[in-house]
Amino acid sequence: MIRNMKLKFLLFVFIHSLDVNAQTPLPLVPAPVSMTMGKGNFILSPQTTIVLEGSNLEKEASFLNDYLMQFYGYSLPVGTKKTNQQSIVLNYERLDQPLPGAYNLHINEKEVYIAGDNAAGVFYGIQTLIQLLPVNPANKQLQVPQLSIEDRPRFAYRGMHLDVARHFFSVKEVKKYIDYLALYKFNNFHWHLTEDQGWRIEIKKYPKLTEVGSCRAQTLSGRYGSDVYDGKKYCGFYTQEEIKEVVQYAADRHINVIPEIDIPGHSLAALSSYPFLGCTKGPYKVMETWGVSNEVLCAGNDSTYRFYEDVLDEIIQLFPSAYIHIGGDECPKERWKTCPVCQQKMKKESLPDEHALQSYFITRIEKYINSKGRKIIGWDEILEGGLAPNATVMSWRGEAGGIAAAKQNHYVIMTPENPLYINHQQSRNEDSVTQGGYNPIENVYQYNPVPSILTEKQAKYILGAQGNMWSEYISNTSKLEYMLFPRMAALAEVLWTPQEKRNWPGFEKRLPGILAQYRFRGLNYSTAFYDLQPAVIRSGDTGIAWKLESRLPDGKIIYVIDSTTNASFTYTQPIEIKQSGLWGAALTDSKNKIISKWTWQSFNLNLASGKKITLRVEPNKSYSAGGAFALVDGIQNNKGMLRSAQFLGFNGNDLEAVIDLGSNKTVDSIILHAFEQKGSWIYAPASVTFFTSIDGKEFNPLKEKPQRSGTKNLEYACRVNSQTRFIKVVAKNYGMIPPGEPGAGNKAWLFADEIEVK
Ligand SMILES: [Zn+2]
Repeated sequence: MIRNMKLKFLLFVFIHSLDVNAQTPLPLVPAPVSMTMGKGNFILSPQTTIVLEGSNLEKEASFLNDYLMQFYGYSLPVGTKKTNQQSIVLNYERLDQPLPGAYNLHINEKEVYIAGDNAAGVFYGIQTLIQLLPVNPANKQLQVPQLSIEDRPRFAYRGMHLDVARHFFSVKEVKKYIDYLALYKFNNFHWHLTEDQGWRIEIKKYPKLTEVGSCRAQTLSGRYGSDVYDGKKYCGFYTQEEIKEVVQYAADRHINVIPEIDIPGHSLAALSSYPFLGCTKGPYKVMETWGVSNEVLCAGNDSTYRFYEDVLDEIIQLFPSAYIHIGGDECPKERWKTCPVCQQKMKKESLPDEHALQSYFITRIEKYINSKGRKIIGWDEILEGGLAPNATVMSWRGEAGGIAAAKQNHYVIMTPENPLYINHQQSRNEDSVTQGGYNPIENVYQYNPVPSILTEKQAKYILGAQGNMWSEYISNTSKLEYMLFPRMAALAEVLWTPQEKRNWPGFEKRLPGILAQYRFRGLNYSTAFYDLQPAVIRSGDTGIAWKLESRLPDGKIIYVIDSTTNASFTYTQPIEIKQSGLWGAALTDSKNKIISKWTWQSFNLNLASGKKITLRVEPNKSYSAGGAFALVDGIQNNKGMLRSAQFLGFNGNDLEAVIDLGSNKTVDSIILHAFEQKGSWIYAPASVTFFTSIDGKEFNPLKEKPQRSGTKNLEYACRVNSQTRFIKVVAKNYGMIPPGEPGAGNKAWLFADEIEVK
C-alpha cells in the first residue's frame, strides 16, 4: 500500500508537470456551452465582498464561503450593496433556456458577476468559479482568469446513485458524496436504501426492519463465488432524523434525493425481519453474499401490500422527491410458481403468468404512490408483463428497455450497465477486487443517452442518465472515491454539455488539471487512464507479440523478460514472444525512474500458440476477448477467478474451433481450458470432444473421452499420441438452466480461454 502510494505520488508529480504548460486548457468540468477568454486576472482576496443583488441567495453565498474557508482558510464578507472593493455579485437574469439551471459568469478585473435564471443556476455558476480557483496558491491572493461564460444543462435529470445496502455509508460519508454531485452540477441523488443484504432506513411502524434487517451475520470475502466469509457481524441504518438532515443538505445544493425501496425482489432483509411477507414464511436470514435470491415478497398476500403502503407513507413524509424508486429488478419467479396464495391471486386477477403478477404488484404499488401525488421509477424489468401506467423506467440492462419505454411514451433515465456502472473495473491492471467488466473513462465519456433509433418526439422522453455505484466491493470512502474519480467527471459532461460540444481529445487535455484538483481537495482517484496499455497481438502468421502503449507524453516504457533478473530493456516495438515465461513492463520518466505499477504477463507456449484458428460460431459480443485468437494466445487464466478479458463467452451456443498447426506435427495431448461459476450463469460444457485431421476436411474424433479436472478453472485433457495437422474442439453448451440452479430458465454461458496442444 505504502509502495503504491509512493508510485502514485511519482506519477502525479509527472502528470502535474504537464499542466505548467501554458497551452493547458482550464480544467472546467462539465465544459461550458460557450466561453470567451479575456486578458489578465481577477484577484480574489479576503477583502473581496460577496454582493447579493438577487434575493434569497444567502445559501449560495455561504456555500462559496464554506468552500473558501475549507480550502483557502478565509471567508468573504456578504452584503447587498457594492463597495469599492473587488466583488462577487450574485444575481438573477432571464436567460430563456428550455431547462432551469442556466447561468452567465462574467469575470473582469473588478468583478465576478454570476447570474442564474434561478438559484440553482447561481449555484452552478459558483461551482464553475470554484473550478477556476488555483490549486497551488502561493498566498491568499487567488488569481482567477478573466473570461465570459454562458452555460446551461443539456438534460433535466443528471443523476448519481449510491448503494448503501451492500455496504453502509455514514451520514458524514453520504454528505461528502452529495458534495461530489454538487461539484459537477448533478441534480439527483438516487439512494438505494434496501436490499437482500440490509435494510438501512428506520421505519417507525415496523421497527424490526432495522432491528433485524440492518444486520447480517457476516460478509463474503473476496470476489463473488469465493465462498469465504469474514465471520464479522455487519450493521448500519439511518434514523429518520438523519434522513431529514441528508435531504436538507442535498436540497441546499439543489440536489433532489430519490429513495429506493426495492420490491418485490432484493427483499431478504425485509423478509428476515417480517417472515409473513414471503411465500414460504421463512425462516429467512439477511443475505451474506452477493447476487440474486430466490426468496422474494409474496405477491398474492394482501398484507404484503398493506405493509409496503405503511412503509411508503413514512418514506413519502421523509422525501419531498416527486419520484420514489420502487426497484422491480431481478425478481425470480420460482416461489410464486409454487405458492398457492400467489397462484390464487393470478386466477382471481386473470393474470396469464408470473410476469403479469409482477406487473400487477408494481401497478398496485404505483397506484398507491400516485394517490399520494408522487410518481414511481423502476428498473427496466418493470416492462415485463406490461408497464405500470405512469412509471418512469431506468434502463440498466443496456438501452433496449429505455427505447421500448420511450416508444410507449414513458419517461426514461438511461443507466446502461455498460458504461454507466461506475463500480465496474476501470483498469485492466486492477489490483483491488472490483466488479468485473472493463469500463474505462473513455467509454463513460463517449456515451450519449439519446439512442439514435428514437424519433425526435420519442427522444424527448429521455430525461437524462445516471451513474450507478453498487457497493458489493466498495466498503469505504477511499475506495468509493477511487471508483468515482475521474469517471464521474466524464459522466458530468455527458449530462450537461451539448453533444456537439463534446470531444474526447478535449477532455483528455483537461484531465491532468482535473486530477490536480482532486489532489488539492484530498480526494482519492484512479490513474488508470495513464496505465500501461498492454495487448497480446498476432505477430506475422504464426507468432505472438506483447504490445505496450503509454498515454503519458514522453513516458518511456521498459520491460524485463524474467522477473528474477535485473536486466531491463527499453521498449520500442511489440515484443515477439518466442518462449514461455513471465514478462514485466513499467513506465519510467526521462530520468529512468519507475513511475507506474509493473504490468506482468505470463506466456505458456505450446504447439497451438499463435496458429491459425477459426470458429464456427462467434462468441457473444460482450465476451469476445478480441476474437478466436484469445484461444491460442499463450495466456491461460490461472487465478481461479473470472477475468472476462481473457474469455470467450457463448450464450446458449456451442464452442467449435478448428486449429491449423501449419504442418503435420506429433501431438501428445490436447487441453481445453474452460470456466465454471454457476452464480454468474456460467456452466461447464455438457460435453467436450476433440477431433484430428490430416487434410482439414475429414475429422476423426479421438476415441478417449477428455478427462475433466479442476474447479472453476476447468481443464479437459486428452492424450493423442499421433501425427496430425488440424485439430477440432467441440464443447457443447450446458443448455437451458434447470429449475433450482442459479439462472434457472435462462440459457447457460459457456466460457473458454485457451486450447493447448502439446
Ligand atoms: Zn406467494
